[in-house]
Amino acid sequence: YFVTPEQIDGSRIVLAGDDAHHITRVMRMEEDDVIIVSDGVSRVAEASIKSLSPGKVEAEAAAWLPIEGEPLWSVTVAQSLPKGDKMELVIQKGTEIGAAAFMPFESERMIVQYDGKKEAKRLERWGKIAKEAAEQAHRSRIPAIGAVASWKELVARIPSYDLALFCYEKEGGGRGLREAVSARRQSGEWGGEERNILLVVGPEGGFTEREAAEAEEAGAVVVGLGKRILRTETAAMVGLACLMYESGE
Ligand code: SAM
Repeated sequence: YFVTPEQIDGSRIVLAGDDAHHITRVMRMEEDDVIIVSDGVSRVAEASIKSLSPGKVEAEAAAWLPIEGEPLWSVTVAQSLPKGDKMELVIQKGTEIGAAAFMPFESERMIVQYDGKKEAKRLERWGKIAKEAAEQAHRSRIPAIGAVASWKELVARIPSYDLALFCYEKEGGGRGLREAVSARRQSGEWGGEERNILLVVGPEGGFTEREAAEAEEAGAVVVGLGKRILRTETAAMVGLACLMYESGE
């Protein structure tokens, strides 16, 4: 369970709302049962339940330990906003696979009409999905989810990553993700083990040539994910899984 600083008082932890409901009603836990809590930033603890009711659970942490088990490579999935609830699927599955963050963005051939008025509600829902997926995957951190960025904002962020991969099906059987990673590894710019990587995935209608050229100019490496054309949500998961594999995790 993820807790905020307000829920922690030394070794004492208080859980309420959905978490308390989950512990008491779904997991049917009892006093002295142990839960794993994380502050979502730097530490985790095993905590034994001291008292419980459906609205409030109090637990005692044995010891706070530094976070471990998070992927070595910090991968941000930049996903052009897909239609329907596909973004939710990308967030849920991407969190399980190991994404560090999600950056939805607008692009030219995006099918969905982006409605900025629904932003707050949507971010709240996406945050809840990421939290639940992180808990189920036993992650120590909840991936961050940014507000929908414009194409220009996305391009401006490309240079801040150690490696930005621009997934473009027109690359076909050309340069693959593995090739791009190994080229960067051999370039001497790769340095230590921890990496910040951006994985850019286009909308249902694909990227335009102009977008591919702009991303490349900003420093992204254009890569193919194989000869088959994947649905936008599949491409994000495949790219992410390949990166986790390449990182050795
Ligand atoms: N029309 C389908 C849909 O509704 O999802 C497929 C759309 S595909 C054009 C969507 C995005 O997935 C592309 O912009 C690209 O980023 C990524 N993609 C899909 N297949 C790919 C491949 N073989 N190589 C690289 N990127 C791919």
